[in-house]
Amino acid sequence: MSEARLIDGRAFASALRMRVGKGVGDLVASKGVKPGLATVLVGGDPASEVYVRSKGKAAAELGMASFDHRLPDETTEAELLQLIAGLNADADVHGILVQLPLPGHIQTQKVLRAIDPDKDVDGFHPINVGRLGMIAAGAPLDFPVACTPLGCSMLLTDVLGSLSGMNAVVVGRSTLVGRPVAQLLLRADCTVTIAHSRTRDLPSVCRTADILAVAIGRPEFVRGDWIKPGAAVIDVGINRIPAAAGKTRLVGDVVFEEARQVAGHLTPVPGGVGPMTVACLMYNTLQQARREAGLPFAEI
Ligand code: NDP
Repeated sequence: MSEARLIDGRAFASALRMRVGKGVGDLVASKGVKPGLATVLVGGDPASEVYVRSKGKAAAELGMASFDHRLPDETTEAELLQLIAGLNADADVHGILVQLPLPGHIQTQKVLRAIDPDKDVDGFHPINVGRLGMIAAGAPLDFPVACTPLGCSMLLTDVLGSLSGMNAVVVGRSTLVGRPVAQLLLRADCTVTIAHSRTRDLPSVCRTADILAVAIGRPEFVRGDWIKPGAAVIDVGINRIPAAAGKTRLVGDVVFEEARQVAGHLTPVPGGVGPMTVACLMYNTLQQARREAGLPFAEI
């Protein structure tokens, strides 16, 4: 059997960004609306600073307005809620991203629920989680959908075309990744199994999958002999492990070299799902700006 075709998330994300950039230009030209993304960072966590900076930079590169709000660690919940209320009311802001984790004295769910669901470009608001939960098969995704799951679904559709009737196994049931991935696959007419830490005989469950999406946060957990020959494997995991000479390296939740010998398609880590997340954030922001401008939903 030949080696798996690697799914090039970097190339797909870069093409998606180009399409979003063109969409931004078209929207400015046709409606005079410039999509705007507001990022909110509370505290000085270095990793969060890097993420927020990359999101603001990506927005600016695509011709969007980027509004960067940095608040000190001691910001109160009331102050943060007041800022969000202001951003909800600001017509120049189409997407609001509150970088997680928030400091312990702030209730994350309270803050996420305060964001206008239509501007919730992370797709974490219960209204958007509910919209995805209620979606009919094949219906348009005309609301913000969590970025990493949306990226997984775009990659799968790109490499496989129609997913209709396929057996999909999603390993992981988190609200941020596993569940929305499963909902998107159900919408695409897959027969979906969601597995988790209490699943009995996980290897056998995985072997039923034409599509195997793994999001568990366990380095190199899924072995090659768990994979049905020819299956499409989406490895969402990002794990940093020790490497030679005191260095570290990134690995996924799947043993890459083993999976490569069995799978039909496989996302590498890094360079698979990872780059899709920020690209989908830009996509969600443009889509909201298009809705605000009264344009009908269109895939970009
Ligand atoms: P969570 O820790 O929130 O959820 C992990 C899930 O995996 C849980 O449902 C858990 O089951 C399940 N699980 C854990 N151990 C096992 C096991 N031994 N067997 C089967 N299931 C297991 O993680 P997230 O969903 O937030 O993230 C998962 C991975 O994806 C991480 O590596 C994270 O870094 C990565 N990630 C990557 C992103 C990107 O590419 N941009 C974005 C977001 C996440 P149970 O519910 O039973 O506890």
